[in-house]
Amino acid sequence: MIYYKTDAELEIQRESSLLVGKTLAEVAKVIEPGVKTKKLDKIAEEFILDNGAKPGFKGYGGFPATLCISVNDEVVHGIPGERELKEGDIVSVDCGTIWKGFYGDSAYTFEVGEVEEEVHWLLERTKQSLYLGIEMAVAGKRVGDIGHAIQSYVENFGYGVVRDLVGHGVGRHLHEKPEVPNYGRRGTGVKLKKGMAIAIEPMINLGRKEVVQDSDGWTIRTIDGKPSAHFEHDVAIKDGKPDILSTFKYIEEVLNNK
Ligand code: MG
Ligand code: MG
Repeated sequence: MIYYKTDAELEIQRESSLLVGKTLAEVAKVIEPGVKTKKLDKIAEEFILDNGAKPGFKGYGGFPATLCISVNDEVVHGIPGERELKEGDIVSVDCGTIWKGFYGDSAYTFEVGEVEEEVHWLLERTKQSLYLGIEMAVAGKRVGDIGHAIQSYVENFGYGVVRDLVGHGVGRHLHEKPEVPNYGRRGTGVKLKKGMAIAIEPMINLGRKEVVQDSDGWTIRTIDGKPSAHFEHDVAIKDGKPDILSTFKYIEEVLNNK
């Protein structure tokens, strides 16, 4: 079922989502060649706890960490560990929080040092596709309008849209109905109504759209070994205009001052 939220609940959800954005900004400060992914996880976990919230992913379905950290051809659900980031990598950092019973869920893909130009554009265009999807996230539109906006934009560049993983409703549960695919046809699927909150999260591959799961039971990677980008915002459905609950503002302040 779809859970509809009151305005007061959406404001709590906004606080949770903003904390995710602030946490990702703390992570952004230390992303550089040589840093271990487990260090990023520790920084995020401490920051969330210091702010009186709880990590949303740790223990979820048995996931062992606060962040999902996915490098290069890893699409999502990578587990932080001893791996050191290196110059030219890209790293998707997905973070969840629980604040007063509500989840925030947002992700950003970072460049480590200088990356190849085609990889840089993959990131820029994936982020742009997220905002194009968000434009469709208003009462009266359908989830297919969101998917279509994302898919039609990125396929222009020959990129692959991951099919096996999708966006979702978000609220008191990390994953609620409806599913929000990053592909679709205009005017199809679940109708968006005031009070819904959804996480829109394009996962876009430089090459083929197919993905495989590692033997660790978590990490999803591209089947052709080419890089993948991932950006995610939480959005409240309102009349007339989308209301983005999460933010990249704090992250991008850090990146612009690096
Ligand atoms: Mg996420
Ligand atoms: Mg999500």
